[in-house]
Amino acid sequence: MQPEIIPDERIAEFCCSGMPGDVLPVDIAGAKAIAAAVPVNEVERLPLIEASGRISASDIASAISLPLFDNSAMDGYAVRTRDFTESGPWRFFVSGRIPAGDGSGRRFPPASAVRIFTGAPLPAGFDAVVMQENCQRSDDTVTFAAKPTSGQNNRRGGEDVSAGSTTVAAGSLLTPGRIALLAATGVGDVEAWRRMRVALISTGSELREPGRKLGPGQIYNSNRYFLRSALAYPWAEIADYGIVGDDPETIRAVVRDAARVCDVVITTGGVSVGEEDHMMDVLRRENAELEVLKVSMRPGKPVTVGTIGNALFFGLPGNPYAAAVTFSRIALPAIKATAGLSDVATSWMPAVSGFSYRRKPGRTEYVPVTWARRDTDGKPVVEMLGRGSSASLNPMASARATAVLPPDMASIEPGMPLRIEPFCE
Ligand code: AMP
Ligand code: MG
Repeated sequence: MQPEIIPDERIAEFCCSGMPGDVLPVDIAGAKAIAAAVPVNEVERLPLIEASGRISASDIASAISLPLFDNSAMDGYAVRTRDFTESGPWRFFVSGRIPAGDGSGRRFPPASAVRIFTGAPLPAGFDAVVMQENCQRSDDTVTFAAKPTSGQNNRRGGEDVSAGSTTVAAGSLLTPGRIALLAATGVGDVEAWRRMRVALISTGSELREPGRKLGPGQIYNSNRYFLRSALAYPWAEIADYGIVGDDPETIRAVVRDAARVCDVVITTGGVSVGEEDHMMDVLRRENAELEVLKVSMRPGKPVTVGTIGNALFFGLPGNPYAAAVTFSRIALPAIKATAGLSDVATSWMPAVSGFSYRRKPGRTEYVPVTWARRDTDGKPVVEMLGRGSSASLNPMASARATAVLPPDMASIEPGMPLRIEPFCE
């Protein structure tokens, strides 16, 4: 009996059992890759100044409150609101001066005002600061036309961070904001997960490195450069195996070595079922456990996800746009999970179509888009770049995002709501 050939538009009916031979929906394939990821579990201690872009390996609790003491939010005069009795204007003797960094803890008499500057500690018993623009100073007195409210321009101790609270959770990316918070709470060094190691292998006998001369039938290797650039994260370390020709024994030796020394192995090319496509054979002979063989996406239907020994393996298609989309959508979230990041979700935002497009339904399609204008709600009105061909590079070079067309969406018209995912930003 001939095996049934499933047309693209019926794929959805066949893709939900989750067996590796099935064509899986994108979200399921991505979830299987994340589930197969084993987070690194070795910790490195790093000076805070070198920890930017790394991933915290521990929950960090603040040893101090922020602010540590009540302090002035303005240059002006510290007062006690209870001294503003009867009706104004109110005139007070200026009893002293407190610049930022003054640690004297001096006390000042009631019914007086104290010249104070931004960040300087509020003197005991003084509960408000009147900004200098709202005061009239003459010699050693200052006059206020309005009665201040208690707490005005007073940055209260602990209003930002309370001592003992968690400022950064394990698995968080150490962003500039978090690094600043850690610095402000006095943290001098942090525990980060060691950098995860990812191997890159470009398969294809036709490939040459840019900068060299091309022979007949040869092309330049662009996938290696895409992936190096897309993986230039402080939490990743690249083992670049360069180009490996379409020879199964050589590919096998390189993949085996890469899987031994790296946490993740990425190959491009050779993942279809042509005579010169050797990845499946190599994976079988290396006893890979395969989770995903085909994904119901365009571009990039053949994309292999599995494990070889302790390494997570991604066999991406050779065509550049297909390699880029499958990397971003299927591989990257699982690579982030391997690195120890707790938030690995692909981010997206709502947009509006500025184009018409008819297509064969059945697969999730990733269309390269950009935008120059927004609608009245501020949503980007996106234009399609090229035809989303898996071999084209020019559209992806100009793309700010990919529009995600769900499997059942057959026609897209201007004004229709679309979901867009940032493209390698
Ligand atoms: P394959 O998946 O090996 O059948 O390759 C599909 C297409 O992608 C072929 O036209 C290859 O020449 C091309 N290709 C494969 N690898 C690369 C690469 N690293 N850079 C640019 N193009 C590639
Ligand atoms: Mg090939």
